[in-house]
Amino acid sequence: MPNAKAYSATSPTSPLALTTIARRDVTAHDVQIEILYCGVCHSDLHQVRNEWSGFLPTVYPCVPGHEIVGRVTKVGPAVTKFRAGDLAAVGCMVDSDGTCPECLAGLEQFCPNVTFTYNLPDKHLGGVTYGGYSDSIVVDQRFVLRVPANLGLAGAAPLLCAGITTYSPMRHWGVTRGKKVGVVGLGGLGHMGVKFAHALGAHVVVFTTSPSKKEDALRLGADEVVISKNADEMLKHAGSFDFILDAVSAEHDINAYINLLRRDGNITLVGAPEKPLAISAFGLIMGRHSLSGSPIGGIAETQEMLDFCGKHNITADVEVIPIQKINEAYTRLLKSDVKYRFSIDMASLRSE
Ligand code: NAP
Ligand code: ZN
Repeated sequence: MPNAKAYSATSPTSPLALTTIARRDVTAHDVQIEILYCGVCHSDLHQVRNEWSGFLPTVYPCVPGHEIVGRVTKVGPAVTKFRAGDLAAVGCMVDSDGTCPECLAGLEQFCPNVTFTYNLPDKHLGGVTYGGYSDSIVVDQRFVLRVPANLGLAGAAPLLCAGITTYSPMRHWGVTRGKKVGVVGLGGLGHMGVKFAHALGAHVVVFTTSPSKKEDALRLGADEVVISKNADEMLKHAGSFDFILDAVSAEHDINAYINLLRRDGNITLVGAPEKPLAISAFGLIMGRHSLSGSPIGGIAETQEMLDFCGKHNITADVEVIPIQKINEAYTRLLKSDVKYRFSIDMASLRSE
């Protein structure tokens, strides 16, 4: 069994540090990937610190990372989609049963037997799966994606989670030209949401708590920017949105956004704060507003999103970091200080 270098956390309070993990030998349908870049998602931080203990308790040691791009180094004899030397990508899932109605509908993210890229039982090696803060990974070809050749790899990595998580609900809720779309929280997910809503032709309004991000929001494709702490500015948009994407990682007042929806408007939560959000019934009742959530997206839609990005030249705006800076990056994530995604250059791990 090949070993891999990785960064892991051993408890909710310990920093991530260098370790060695086992990866499985390539089986018939497997693709072995040398990881070149891995994006840093706020979900990595939530899980490393066991903030989702009620939904998905963290098993330690935890090797996070689910925004993976790399180069194929080896394939199993039954692999038809990839050859050694190809670029390849892996997102938040590495397995599912393949037979349930959700899988048959191409919605593997809803499969009751889905295996996330890290922190879920690993049916090959026992223990739990280990993610992309590592120099290599072995994944069934069904869960390996193609990366369009024109995209820069450091900025392409975040598409595998931040990209699909914002693209999928926008497609589901019919974001198109003529629609007024809000994006709440200009972080890793939010900035991808702005890029997609803009590319889909919508009128895009960014809601941010960070006045310093205003110029960036406009450059990323927003038509307007609202500093959400300013009640007067918020009020100007009351009852006007077809769709709002809430990508905030922490506790906040979602009712302030529900009130901005027009009749039958929808607000979709993709942000997954540690604590429950309080909802005012009347905000939903009056205006027949709906509130929903959305997890990542299926494999076929993830490939569709990557191809869309290839066509429109969309990648994440990244700050490339060596893996040795990961703990500092987490501290900055908590201060909303990232423009707009950290992407780990895995060469830094190889040379450690
Ligand atoms: P991120 O880069 O840290 O961005 C979060 C943004 O939320 C911040 O940049 C900030 O934007 C805003 N924010 C932070 N604290 C806030 C507060 N107290 N009040 C109001 N706004 C605040 O995080 P991310 O990686 O984009 O992830 C965002 C959330 O989505 C996380 O909870 C993550 O776990 C979740 N997620 C869900 C899925 C899914 O499948 N549904 C997938 C990936 C991630 P401003 O500075 O603009 O205010
Ligand atoms: Zn993620």
